[in-house]
Amino acid sequence: MIQDSTLNTQRLDDIRQFVREIAIPAEAQVVRDNEIPAHIVQIMRERGYFGWSIPREYGGAGMTTEELALANIELSKAATAFRARAGTNTGIGAESIIQDGTLEQKQEWLPKLASGEVTGCLALTEPEAGSDATALKASATPAMTGSAQQWRINGTKRYITNAPIAELFTVFARTDPEDLSHRGISAFLIPRQTPGLSTGPEHRKMGQSGSPVSEVYLEDVMASSEQIVGGVPGKGFATAMKTLNKQRINLAALCIGPAMRLLDEALAHVKKREQFGKQIGEFQLVQAMLAECQVEISAARSLVLETARARDNGEDVTTQASICKYYASEMCGRVADRVVQIFGGAGYCADIGGPIEMLYRDVRLFRLYEGTSQIHLLNIAKRIMK
Ligand SMILES: Cc1cc2nc3c(=O)[nH]c(=O)nc-3n(C[C@H](O)[C@H](O)[C@H](O)COP(=O)(O)OP(=O)(O)OC[C@H]3O[C@@H](n4cnc5c(N)ncnc54)[C@H](O)[C@@H]3O)c2cc1C
Repeated sequence: MIQDSTLNTQRLDDIRQFVREIAIPAEAQVVRDNEIPAHIVQIMRERGYFGWSIPREYGGAGMTTEELALANIELSKAATAFRARAGTNTGIGAESIIQDGTLEQKQEWLPKLASGEVTGCLALTEPEAGSDATALKASATPAMTGSAQQWRINGTKRYITNAPIAELFTVFARTDPEDLSHRGISAFLIPRQTPGLSTGPEHRKMGQSGSPVSEVYLEDVMASSEQIVGGVPGKGFATAMKTLNKQRINLAALCIGPAMRLLDEALAHVKKREQFGKQIGEFQLVQAMLAECQVEISAARSLVLETARARDNGEDVTTQASICKYYASEMCGRVADRVVQIFGGAGYCADIGGPIEMLYRDVRLFRLYEGTSQIHLLNIAKRIMK
């Protein structure tokens, strides 16, 4: 649902200008330094990019799912690091609070997340609990401090996006050691300065340079019951699923921007590169690869926007969100692979072919996180067979 088409158009124009004039020219520097320059992060804060999905009463833009999808498509045309920098605040790092937080939790955290003063992250995955997130071992055991109920949290989280720079961690831990199902899990809001919380060195990733990801260590971290999202233990996994349900649509949109950029790069290249005395775009086998990219991008875009609109209309889009995530991430991988093929050696060598090699590596992750393709296929099958 588009709330105000004039405002929406202005916003998309603003993002396109940011991508074209600020983000893309800085990509090589981001890859070299493995971080986004501070002045660019500041520009993103000032333009409101951290608050897209946060309700207006808490300082955000209050975008609908469809508006967020359109914005994500535009911002993700730049290297993934740019959208990942703000992306936990417009996605998994804030959504748990938006979905299930108490009024106090919303008032405390959402304005800071919306302004980008605070970077949030979501810490669910563990070394032994990836696809099977309900197998998580992090524990939160009751401990009384005076008359106040406290929780002592211990555990290790792995692969947590933005953990090295986050000030707020949404940490999932088991509050009921007897209940090994999802009902024993709670989500805690833990500020970085809490004693016992620390982060590991950045994982050395295949791609997405400039988007820091690391482990999170919790050693006797003390938290009050007021820090449980929603204030009630045992609801953490339901919160995670609501958060990820929306995030799947976000992520699908974030797969479309890179695919569009890759196709644009390929379309320009086939007009410049000549072999056998002709532009390579004149060869029908090359044209087929271009057309296949366009068909799949168009299909993914339609699917994602239709699902986003259905969610905005209050429909249950659980199955559709899985379909979006699965199709768009696989689509993006196929587009990236074809575009490397179209560029030939220049697609493989960054010094010759520019961003193609970087984008190819960046997009590989999409098929892994927030549910692997296999997990989404299983989920889709389970739901349609019901
Ligand atoms: C760079 C990066 C950033 C991430 N960011 C975050 C974050 O911010 N927060 C967070 O909590 N997590 C994050 N993750 C974790 C991510 O969501 C997990 O990596 C993902 O869920 C897969 O878990 P796994 O890596 O343990 O793989 P595994 O679960 O070990 O899966 C390995 C393989 O087995 C397959 N498989 C597993 N179970 C089944 C099954 N039942 N049937 C068929 N096949 C199966 C998988 O599809 C996969 O192919 C991130 C990961 C990475 C790499």
